[in-house]
Amino acid sequence: MAAFGREQARLGVSQLFSSLRMTTWLIAGHGIGTFASFSTQTETPVRSSQLFFKTYYDDPSDAEIVSHKLMARAGYLVKTGSGIYTFTPLLWRTVKKIMRVICEEMDRSGAQEILMPILQPFSLWQESGRLEGYLKANILFNLSDRKNAQLALGPTHEEVVTDLVRRTVSSHKDFPFTLYQQQMKFRDEIRPRFGLMRCREFMMKDAYSFDVDEEALDLSYETMKAAYHRIFKRLGLRYVVVDADSGAIGDGGSQEFMVTAEAGEDELLLCEAAGYGANVEKAIGIIPPAPEGGEPRPMRKESTPDIKSVEQLCEFFDMTAASMVKTVLYKAVFSEDEKVVAVLMRGDRKINEVKLENRLGCLALHMADDETIRRVTGADPGFAGPVGLSQEVLVLADESTRRMTNVLCGCNENDFHLLDVNLGRDCPEPEYLDLMVAEPGDRCVLDDTLELTVVRGIEVGHIFKLGTKYSESMGLQFMGKDGKKHPALMGCYGIGTTRIAAAAVEQNHDEDGIVWPYSIAPFHVVLTVAGKKDKTGITACEDLYTSLMEAGKDVLLDDRDLGLGARLKDAELMGIPFRILFGRGFKEGKVEIKCRRTGETADIMLDEIDAWMEERMN
Ligand code: ATP
Ligand code: MG
Repeated sequence: MAAFGREQARLGVSQLFSSLRMTTWLIAGHGIGTFASFSTQTETPVRSSQLFFKTYYDDPSDAEIVSHKLMARAGYLVKTGSGIYTFTPLLWRTVKKIMRVICEEMDRSGAQEILMPILQPFSLWQESGRLEGYLKANILFNLSDRKNAQLALGPTHEEVVTDLVRRTVSSHKDFPFTLYQQQMKFRDEIRPRFGLMRCREFMMKDAYSFDVDEEALDLSYETMKAAYHRIFKRLGLRYVVVDADSGAIGDGGSQEFMVTAEAGEDELLLCEAAGYGANVEKAIGIIPPAPEGGEPRPMRKESTPDIKSVEQLCEFFDMTAASMVKTVLYKAVFSEDEKVVAVLMRGDRKINEVKLENRLGCLALHMADDETIRRVTGADPGFAGPVGLSQEVLVLADESTRRMTNVLCGCNENDFHLLDVNLGRDCPEPEYLDLMVAEPGDRCVLDDTLELTVVRGIEVGHIFKLGTKYSESMGLQFMGKDGKKHPALMGCYGIGTTRIAAAAVEQNHDEDGIVWPYSIAPFHVVLTVAGKKDKTGITACEDLYTSLMEAGKDVLLDDRDLGLGARLKDAELMGIPFRILFGRGFKEGKVEIKCRRTGETADIMLDEIDAWMEERMN
């Protein structure tokens, strides 16, 4: 037996094996029945002395956010490689609880559980047309087999599920249905970081709906959305639902479930009063009009030596940035060719590159390099403007510039700028689109008397109407009532199962450690006896252990040969919702109980424990 734990928590081999057996069973299990009968409650006592875990005083050196630090210190995860983690029994218990809530609510919504392969033939990705983009973005883990056929480790399963369904259904009578699975996904992320938040191997629940028309797809989407609300409520998370970028396939409908937390990588713009919420990638803000430009005046050129930035121009011309139009040049990569694109934006606002990429429908978008800028403008970087740009450039303008008159622009000539430029008069009228980054303080599109505010969010779920994107490219058709063939309508619905664990810790922790929501804590209650030689306490503790377990609680008995202080500290760090201590008060039949979330303690009789915990479960 190896020595583990703060000082000497020991590896319980039987514990380890029973945990491993559960893992195999779960991964191999296909049927709802199998999974639903799966319980996280163990029949053998779980004693800290035998639990495979180790706690640490120090944060891992690569941990940047609190959930990563605390989960590593409390012994939940062990790094195996960059963005690759092993889940200890503690974390696996929590993840299984999350999986179980998801599974129950998916089943309740009528979705059916399946298990698709992780190994995916490249040929399917070629059929859907996504192979090139995924390879260019380097996100796909790929390998070749002994016959040199190329395979990918599944980053998502639209291709596989479309292939499955096209082999199985033929008539409109076969619809509607939704299939789902919970399984590891593989993505070679550019920057794996933040522990479980952005991994290269992570657990996802992915579901796919199949319908015969738009109306039915809307219903499937709403059914899934309702299931997601039930899931995130049961998991005890504070979250918002926001409109999400739906890529180049259009505005079919896409929303994200975001756990609100400072560490979130996404910026969300909200107007709670009007019921508006959107990811900044997608958000629309109504901005105050630019200062009145007046009747068009003749265009003129001014010398502006060494002046390039908007700030320098404001000072030089004594103007606000809102009276200027800046020109930013990009290179858009399409499958056949590349195009130089100029975006005209009001001087005080930023360009939303996600909106731009979607409008262009390109594979990738980069800032134009200096050489390209010189070729299309005839000047050094920093002087681009809409007047006299090379014909090869596609010019797009943000809506905010539509009614501006007499604006200041770059001149496409070193050390000069143009004043009193009027778009459409001095240069061809550009195409106007919403290409702006919305900001807090902008007005809400649903009610322009209200302002948008900003919060940060962690994306834990994403629901998306795919329409016929995959059914058309991969030939998933059914015979309609009209006797004609039609492509099926699809939706896809993801949940970041393991990311949820990290998000829950981001939202629920304090200076002493994790504070798990009750529904996903690895154990509900930890019991310990103050005095190592207190025989009566130990017997009573064992009895309570059994009765709590019989009452359906997941109980950990901390019987480690450690000082009381260290045991209590570990219980706090691990985030177990309740702690019960058999101490001096037990002479009068009382135990000390503590609620991890509120910090409340009380000396109570054994028969009061249930009610005390009941009142404080979140
Ligand atoms: P992100 O924008 O965070 O990269 P995504 O939009 O690419 O995520 P989806 O394809 O929508 O992710 O996947 C469904 C869910 O899987 C996400 O909502 C998220 O919770 C989770 N997820 C995605 N990528 C990762 C990852 N690298 N590590 C952990 N969970 C992830
Ligand atoms: Mg997403």
